[in-house]
Amino acid sequence: MLEITPVRAFSDNYIWLIHSPRDPRQVLAVDPGDAAPVQRTLAERGLTLAGILITHHHADHVGGVAELLRRPGPTSQASPLGDIALFGPAREKVPGEPVRLREGDRVRLDELGLAFEVLDVPGHTAGHIAYVGHGAVFCGDTLFSGGCGRLFEGTPEQMTASLGKLAALPEETRVYCAHEYTVSNLKFSLAVEPDNEDAAAYLRECEAKRARDQATVPSTIGRERKVNPFLRCREQSVKQAAERRAGRGLQSEAEVLAVIRQWKDGFRG
Ligand code: ZN
Ligand code: FE
Repeated sequence: MLEITPVRAFSDNYIWLIHSPRDPRQVLAVDPGDAAPVQRTLAERGLTLAGILITHHHADHVGGVAELLRRPGPTSQASPLGDIALFGPAREKVPGEPVRLREGDRVRLDELGLAFEVLDVPGHTAGHIAYVGHGAVFCGDTLFSGGCGRLFEGTPEQMTASLGKLAALPEETRVYCAHEYTVSNLKFSLAVEPDNEDAAAYLRECEAKRARDQATVPSTIGRERKVNPFLRCREQSVKQAAERRAGRGLQSEAEVLAVIRQWKDGFRG
């Protein structure tokens, strides 16, 4: 299992530091929207930033990249990769000159003992990618625990396909999303599926964690299949709730997703 250190940024972002299994002092940072908290964590723990993985172009995910490339902080040892390796989506503009990735590409960092496969997961943004490996997925703002990203640049059809790829990962896959939105997402899950006991129990668990200021993420794919309405658009309960909301029959999974995504946009739990 990967060793991961969460770094909190802004009000509810997580920047994940992935430790090398070969040398846990070497880390990759996923979506560093802010350099300062990453630099602080690197310094406090004597870590070296070996690389950066970017999922999409939004500022809260890339805002710290340029600064980290310039000043990664006082490194205790050199990275086996030399310069900080930078990876990002092929179809989006992000800072620096990343290795540009699309579905089917692999990030192979043999020196660190790390390898990830890339999935195209458009919907939140047009070129959003996810990194899958070592029993984990780093999915940015595509899949959240209990929810999914807003459709800023993509269509409901694209988001349905993207979430379908993530839902098809093995159920024990740990889901490292980029925001702590779980409690408010689950309140919405229960508005869609009031009888979903898994969602109700998970909400209580997550509220208790938040009261202790603990992170609710990572989640797992298996759990998300049970509690996340955006992965459950084929379930009759979700489809019927969406049809009641829309006041008409809905044929496809994407139509159901479109309705519940819009519903969520205006939902105040
Ligand atoms: Zn975003
Ligand atoms: Fe974000």
